[in-house]
Amino acid sequence: MEHLSVKHAQECILEAIGRLDVETVRLEQALGRVLAEEVRANRDQPPYDVSAMDGYALRGADLAVIPATLALIGDIQAGDMPSLTVQTGQCARIMTGAPLPQGADAVIRVEDTQSAGEGGVQINRAVPAGNDIRRLGENMRNGEVVLNAGTEITPGVIGILATVKCAQLQVTRRPRVAILSTGNELEGMDEPFDPNKIPNSNSYALMAQVQALGIEPVLLGIARDNPAELAEYLQRGLKFDVLLVSGGSSVGVHDYVRPTIEALGVRMLFWRVAIKPGHPLAFGTTSKTAVFGLPGNPVSSMVCFEQFVAPALRGMMGHARLYRRTVTARLAHAVKTRPGRTEFIRVMLSGDDAGGYVATSTGTQSSGVSLSMARADGLLVVPATCNGLAAGGSVTVQLLDGTAFQDDVGFRE
Ligand code: AMP
Ligand code: MG
Repeated sequence: MEHLSVKHAQECILEAIGRLDVETVRLEQALGRVLAEEVRANRDQPPYDVSAMDGYALRGADLAVIPATLALIGDIQAGDMPSLTVQTGQCARIMTGAPLPQGADAVIRVEDTQSAGEGGVQINRAVPAGNDIRRLGENMRNGEVVLNAGTEITPGVIGILATVKCAQLQVTRRPRVAILSTGNELEGMDEPFDPNKIPNSNSYALMAQVQALGIEPVLLGIARDNPAELAEYLQRGLKFDVLLVSGGSSVGVHDYVRPTIEALGVRMLFWRVAIKPGHPLAFGTTSKTAVFGLPGNPVSSMVCFEQFVAPALRGMMGHARLYRRTVTARLAHAVKTRPGRTEFIRVMLSGDDAGGYVATSTGTQSSGVSLSMARADGLLVVPATCNGLAAGGSVTVQLLDGTAFQDDVGFRE
């Protein structure tokens, strides 16, 4: 099999996986999930015209001459159903959200008034009919579709669901994900320190990448590089929706992952992608499980996760937005690359005086240097056709998690 482009590999994966089935969750558990049903308003909201201010309900026509003095005939609180009627020359004290009384056609905020003594209020500003009134159904109309299936549940969406009193809702199920690391050289977290071994960092970095998508994965541990042990572990992994296997997918004589998973009935759809870092990436499926053979190299593993696994997991969860957000940045320095593979350079982002981003490499881009990933705000994407990038050029940077927040407030008031 030849090297696939990143795009073709992504397409092949998304074609092979499907959206998962639907489950019911409580509203309190729904954040970050994807709605699997259409949601309609079950009432007009607000249910009647209400005041948008703490102030006085009055008739706009009474304010032809300013200041005007009106007779105060009552007090309406939020939650009251007023029975009074405001006649010419009268007003009623009204609170934000309280129903507008009969006869009134405007509200004036309290800041534009003063007491006139003896049950009177002096109005210091003219306002037209309709002023500071929230109209019946302004937020939502009874029966109206307020959320479509496929909507990602953000805090704002939770607010809407609560408004229509959706205590339980249908969402797309989250995939069950297993993570397996392979390699004789690996030392488990609980194993004694051995200076000749390499700590199994991939299982944990991958775990965190999966968690960042709102999924709690299961760590299967470390399988040694022998086909029998590997088969045992892989079989366990094939009970999940998604199996991530780290290492052993390359061309070394002890890279048993691909033949062993094929022997277990996984249909391999591709192996090797024109990506740097990370070309020994394998992907296959059974009727139940999508299997990713990720490169053992820690940086390659993480970069491949972002390009191939994250979109697949989001697709399975029903998301429409599958890919990391990209921004345009100015490159702080020249970058050497060779044409042929799409390269992902780990970069830090800062701001320039013009309000744009500046991208600076996190240092050596050797795929063995995992600090290059730990320091990165994003991945600078160098197209496979490029023969290096010049300083000052405009580049595309894929934002990694964590950059949704920034150091300072970022605006002036
Ligand atoms: P492989 O893809 O199995 O040939 O692994 C390539 C290299 O990646 C190995 O020599 C290790 O240095 C490193 N590596 C493999 N698996 C892991 C892991 N789970 N955690 C950290 N490094 C790993
Ligand atoms: Mg290995």
